[in-house]
Amino acid sequence: MKIPTSILDHIEDPIIVLNTSLKIEFQNEATNRLFDNDQKGQHISLLVRDPAFLEYIENTLLDEDNEGIEITFDSYIQKISKEPITFLFNVKKSDELLFLILKNITELKRKDLIKSSFISNVSHEMKTPLSSIIGFIETIKNSAKDDEAAKRKFINIIEKESLRMKRLLDDLMVFNHIETEESIKPKDKINLNEVIQEIATNLEYEANKKNMQIKTENIYDLNVLGNYDNLLQVFSNLIENAIKYANENTKILINFEQQKSNNKTDQFALVKIKDFGPGIEKSHISRLTERFYTVDQARSRSVGGTGLGLSIVKHILKRHGGKLIIESEVGKGSSFTVKIPIYNH
Ligand code: ADP
Repeated sequence: MKIPTSILDHIEDPIIVLNTSLKIEFQNEATNRLFDNDQKGQHISLLVRDPAFLEYIENTLLDEDNEGIEITFDSYIQKISKEPITFLFNVKKSDELLFLILKNITELKRKDLIKSSFISNVSHEMKTPLSSIIGFIETIKNSAKDDEAAKRKFINIIEKESLRMKRLLDDLMVFNHIETEESIKPKDKINLNEVIQEIATNLEYEANKKNMQIKTENIYDLNVLGNYDNLLQVFSNLIENAIKYANENTKILINFEQQKSNNKTDQFALVKIKDFGPGIEKSHISRLTERFYTVDQARSRSVGGTGLGLSIVKHILKRHGGKLIIESEVGKGSSFTVKIPIYNH
């Protein structure tokens, strides 16, 4: 069989053609780019040393059905990335030739890893309140059966833990919703003044419970390109955090600023939410928007946190072509600034 070299050179995936002695008869341009040199005439084991791979190839020669094999190349072997790359190798036999087709599955594997660590985090976060609920129900039914005061105390704990599970589920649903919409760019004209006024009214009661005041300074009609519900979620999460973490009898200041530019696509609205709370140590700041990251888990739980609030903010802002800027000083307070493109049509 004649190898269709010019066709194979146009295929984006690396393809290596072997003869039955497992020597390289041909490698396409994508393979040349991957390994940076042509290994024609060499045994395949010079290119891929993994014994599992060699066994796989030999089994294919014996006509056994093979599903493909995953091989990871470190950066000193492959030349296209500083990070290891994983390929799925598939072999097709044709006459006396073996066609090795390599599919880069690095990104797919990275996403799988994120997904499975997310699932294990969610299960863990759910398991803790659920175990506590089951434990206290058991106690109420048995040892605390005749102790009214203890029963009341345990029922309060059960209520608190159930509410925590509900908050977690609510945040997960928001997360899911945002992820499915992530690729759709929001395009409504949203007046940030209206968003902030609505939240300030909604959260006034919560703030008053800690004798805190939500104060708007220098806020005016400022239009951005966005989605109303999404932006409501962003500012609710940030202002709720300020209420949760800042000290009693303090203010939360909100103000607007505009980053102007002659280039219309480079103009941003900046909304700063400043609190006078405990502040956050520098080493934590870059990690705050990770899912389930909390500086002090016990404190976060005691104020009803789920560890998802800021990662929801980050996701929404990414969808809006914006970002979150966090500044903080321990003992003085924190400011969370939302940066989003101005509506310019
Ligand atoms: P949580 O549900 O735990 O509040 P978030 O994702 O909203 O989760 O926030 C992550 C962590 O960032 C919190 O657990 C808390 O430690 C810290 N944090 C967020 N906002 C503030 C703030 N205004 N002041 C101090 N710490 C904050």
